[in-house]
Amino acid sequence: MMLVSSQQECQTVLNLLTDNLPGFFFQLSETTGQSYQLLKLTNSAAAILGMPLQELHTNQSAIFSRIAAEDFDDLRALLTHSATHGTPWHMQFRYQHPSGNIVWLAAHASLEQDHLGRPSWYGYISDISSMKQNEQALEDYAVAHREILDNVVDAIITINEQGLIQTFNNAAIKLFGYKEEEVLGKNVSMLMPEPYRSQHDHYINAHLHFGVTKIIGRSRETKGQRKDGRLFNMELRISRIERADSVTFIGMVRDLSERKRAEVLIEKLAFYDPLTSLPNRRMLMQCLNDALEKRQYGQELGALLFIDLDNFKHLNDSLGHATGDQLLRQVAQRLQQSVRQQDTVARLGGDEFIILLLHLSPEYYQAIDQAAQIAEKIRAVLNTPFKLEKLSYVSSPSIGITIFSDDNKVVDELLQQADLAMYQAKAAGKNMISLFDVSMQIQASTRTQLESQLRQALSNQQLQLHYQGLHNEQGELVGAEVLIRWFHPELGSVSPAVFIPIAEESGLIYEIGQWVIEQSCLQLTNWTADMPGLVPKLSINISARQFHQENFLPQVLAILEQHPLVQKRLQFELTESILVSRVDEVVAKMRRLQEYGIGFALDDFGTGYSSLSYLKCLPLEQLKIDRSFVEDILHDNNDAAIACTVIALSKALGLGVIAEGVETAEQRDALAGMGCYHYQGFYFSKPLASHDFVNFHRAVFAS
Ligand code: C2E
Ligand code: MG
Ligand code: MG
Repeated sequence: MMLVSSQQECQTVLNLLTDNLPGFFFQLSETTGQSYQLLKLTNSAAAILGMPLQELHTNQSAIFSRIAAEDFDDLRALLTHSATHGTPWHMQFRYQHPSGNIVWLAAHASLEQDHLGRPSWYGYISDISSMKQNEQALEDYAVAHREILDNVVDAIITINEQGLIQTFNNAAIKLFGYKEEEVLGKNVSMLMPEPYRSQHDHYINAHLHFGVTKIIGRSRETKGQRKDGRLFNMELRISRIERADSVTFIGMVRDLSERKRAEVLIEKLAFYDPLTSLPNRRMLMQCLNDALEKRQYGQELGALLFIDLDNFKHLNDSLGHATGDQLLRQVAQRLQQSVRQQDTVARLGGDEFIILLLHLSPEYYQAIDQAAQIAEKIRAVLNTPFKLEKLSYVSSPSIGITIFSDDNKVVDELLQQADLAMYQAKAAGKNMISLFDVSMQIQASTRTQLESQLRQALSNQQLQLHYQGLHNEQGELVGAEVLIRWFHPELGSVSPAVFIPIAEESGLIYEIGQWVIEQSCLQLTNWTADMPGLVPKLSINISARQFHQENFLPQVLAILEQHPLVQKRLQFELTESILVSRVDEVVAKMRRLQEYGIGFALDDFGTGYSSLSYLKCLPLEQLKIDRSFVEDILHDNNDAAIACTVIALSKALGLGVIAEGVETAEQRDALAGMGCYHYQGFYFSKPLASHDFVNFHRAVFAS
């Protein structure tokens, strides 16, 4: 402690103290009308104001003029107010230092009034320039900080220790859909879905404080909830800033919806068929693999259904791919609606679909029954006409079934088995369901053999022609259909339904078809010579590929030339598949052949895409009602209706009509009742080799 004895000493000590302060003391008084005078200034004023003390006293206007004009106005107002109310004042103002710098000064003063009531102020002024600079820097920093926060793509949210939101940047506003004022000070759990949403106060405790080690600093995927209630996937990374007296959590949120959508799309592209949105082959294989693996622990059986649309190629080729696609989409839809939740419907490609049935009975025969029932349902569903723009299109499937159990079957093998069964269904006349059995595999492995053997069949004289009568209402023979037979040395009689498709695929049909025409002409010529009048006409099946062949016409004409007796007594049976392409060419070819006395029948009518428009332009003489409609004509109203329609149609177009596959008198009578008076079928005669045919019919002919 310092002891001061005299006034002199007292002044010295005071000077010592004041000279070492960072500011200076002053006394200011009002002279006349808002003019002011500095009466006292301590020594430090010289350094702060940048003028010798002497000058400061003598040239006071120099001091006041250096105060920024608007600050000086404020000062004056303050002083007036202080003088009126007797209050102390303080203010910060800018002062132009003689060095040229602007310095910030802070003044604090109290009012004293003399005995006349004149005001005078005692105060202290300090240089606060460096503090001001810091403040500015801090302000700049805050602005920059906010700028950055508002421009980053991620949502950044800071919360305090109680979980209350402190800041919410632009990206957060955009992402969550709340305005800043709607969230500031609210619990952050409002941005989360349940169960967090209603946890409020517990949220932070439960998820940040206690779970700190788990989540701080790590990013994790979670769900956020927007103001409108929609949930979205987000990536959340939380940092924790600890200060002496508080903790702040910074949450960085990235919207993953886009990425999730992309992931879903990528998965969709990789595992789903873009046309039908059904699982693709890859996905199916995966499901099948999973099923086989799981099955090893279970007893239940599963089944694979291989579904191929009959005659799809014809539709695609004739009406275009867009129509084909339309059908495939509708088929996919119907398939999906026909199976249970746990079953998988997949598209392998083209017109091939697979259905994977799981959890069938552990009993083999029951499982077969279940799978067959589903297959039957699918067959029925796909037989219902499709609406393809304005066209009503009748399609049918061939379905192969294989049952699998927990023995270690390979996925590919299963698929192959179902495929084989499907192929069998096709060979059996299409629109069929077939169950895989081991003999099929043996047959399939010989299919390639079959093709090479078929090549030899002609020269080895294993091919033969059989004939089946075409009859009128009185049962008289009005013609015969030529049906080819293959007598295989080991397999016995192989159905044309099996080997004609092989012949078509391999191109052997050209040679075989040519041979059939030649032999038929030869046979008709011989019969005509031996028994004139027995067989008035012969109908020959011509496959589409054969008909489209370039030199089909000259070859036929060459044969006709050698057999003048058959003129006007031949009919070619074409199927609707002939119309899949180059219809104009087909019509031109038909017309040329017509000039040479060849008539045309449209075979298996009603099973193809039955577009009525082409019927008008084809030079046909007859429609053949497919035997699938005749088969159930007595019991199935739909079949009866189709047969009836075909008959009415042929009448309307001035064409003849004949029904195939007539097996009973009742069927014949039903057809006659509908106005169809020509028949072919076992009821009249089976297809027979030429001499049997002649013997059979000669007997009838004679009687
Ligand atoms: P498609 O031309 O429709 O021949 C009629 C089929 O029905 C024949 O079968 C015949 O045996 C059978 N059928 C006739 N009546 C009845 C009946 O009352 N009940 C039953 N259930 N079936 C009957 P097939 O001989 O097995 O011939 C099958 C198909 O093979 C033929 O159908 C035809 O599309 C084709 N095909 C036969 N021969 C030739 C040929 O020389 N060339 C060509 N391109 N295809 C041929
Ligand atoms: Mg035929
Ligand atoms: Mg037919």
